[in-house]
Amino acid sequence: MSTRAPSPAPTWSGRRQSRAAEVFRTTVVPLLLVIVTPPAVVLFWIACTYLDGSLLRLLTAEGLAALVDHFPRPSLAAIEIIVAFAVFELGLLKLLPGKTYDGPVTPTGNQPRYKLNGILAWVVSHGAFLGASYGLGWFSPAIVFDHFGELLITLSASCFLFCWFLYFKGIHAPSTTDAGASGNVVMDYFWGVELHPTLFGVNLKQLFNCRISMMGWSLTVISFAARQRLDIGHVSTSMLVCSVLLVAYLFKFFYWESGYFTSLDIMHDRFGYYICWGVISWVPGVYSITAQYLVKHPRELGTPLTIGLLALGFGAIWINYAADAQRQRVRATGGQTTVWGKPPELIHAEYTTADGKTHKSLLLVSGYWGIARHFHYVPELTLALAWSLPAGFSHFLPYFYLMFLTILLTDRAGRDDQRCRTKYGPFWEEYCKKVPYKIVPGVY
Ligand code: NDP
Repeated sequence: MSTRAPSPAPTWSGRRQSRAAEVFRTTVVPLLLVIVTPPAVVLFWIACTYLDGSLLRLLTAEGLAALVDHFPRPSLAAIEIIVAFAVFELGLLKLLPGKTYDGPVTPTGNQPRYKLNGILAWVVSHGAFLGASYGLGWFSPAIVFDHFGELLITLSASCFLFCWFLYFKGIHAPSTTDAGASGNVVMDYFWGVELHPTLFGVNLKQLFNCRISMMGWSLTVISFAARQRLDIGHVSTSMLVCSVLLVAYLFKFFYWESGYFTSLDIMHDRFGYYICWGVISWVPGVYSITAQYLVKHPRELGTPLTIGLLALGFGAIWINYAADAQRQRVRATGGQTTVWGKPPELIHAEYTTADGKTHKSLLLVSGYWGIARHFHYVPELTLALAWSLPAGFSHFLPYFYLMFLTILLTDRAGRDDQRCRTKYGPFWEEYCKKVPYKIVPGVY
């Protein structure tokens, strides 16, 4: 392992910018996000819990009083919940049986390995949570909701510090050659120094992104629904739609876990504040915001609307999964498969890694990948709409995730394009000619 600060490792980001734009992108924006996002998560919780879900009331004297009275502090209870859950998930990742999956080759020619036991871990985690709470009475099923403020601030503060550990580890003891500091501390802290850090043999991205964040998100929503049931004696249809869709989406995530290892979070984004703090603090605080709002604002939707929203959501989950699976299947079979009943239309692309080796890859040009280059973001957004609509239209907060996701995915489609253009050069240009739109044909 190196003890010198490694120079920037090769990436496929391929940005060319003026100096001012570069400073804005690599210093101003990251600094702003690091300053603004931790309080934002707490403010959303206070607005949801004490101000009837109104962000505007945060700006009033009443909002100020709520801030003073309810601003959460890290607590022993929160630390115990977080540590117990993290250790439990680490144990499941390590101990449950599962195949080994070789991830995509990195720009410096490494190939990370993952253990595929996500479905089993999902079943055990949910079984253990429901069994220990409802069955054995060890804790209330509403435990996450009841400690949510403390949990958010504890997660946020501890992860903020952990990202500094990642920064120094990346500089002084990187796990692979896919590491490198730019010298700009703000950007290196925000974006991360390492692509695939490991600690005692544990792949941190798989542990944090998948097993702690995604699993925690699902259990959080279940705990929110449990709190509502304890409060009003039943789970309202609005909460039912929202939580069933969310839990189903997260089950799909674990069913598709190997596909996640070929996504941008894993292949491209370094493990710094953006990803690490994002999955540990932003995901619980923002991704479950509609369910959080619904706990105290139950609405009954009526059977047709309930069924309609569930159908819309499940349809979106299916199309999103089918699109992701299509490109995975085409690559796994070397193109020897069918897409929508026909042989796939393919571009046989090549790319070169930093070690000078040339690799071959397939770009799918038919099926969902022939509609637009990121058409699968449409069902991802449709699903978020389906689980947000049960909240009605009296407040903006339950739609914050939908708005955030729209911005995130629009930016992501552009970033991915840039990455793939640098990686595949003329092969990507050929794909863009055949499939000219990024997300919605005729629009973007
Ligand atoms: P994508 O699934 O869009 O994968 C992008 C990569 O796929 C590219 O970098 C390229 O990688 C490969 N690729 C691109 N075009 C083709 C093609 N035509 N044929 C074959 N391979 C291609 O990555 P995302 O990470 O954006 O999305 C993954 C999933 O996660 C999606 O379902 C998305 O909706 C979801 N998501 C959810 C978010 C949330 O917060 N809820 C946020 C972001 C994503 P290569 O180098 O291998 O060629």
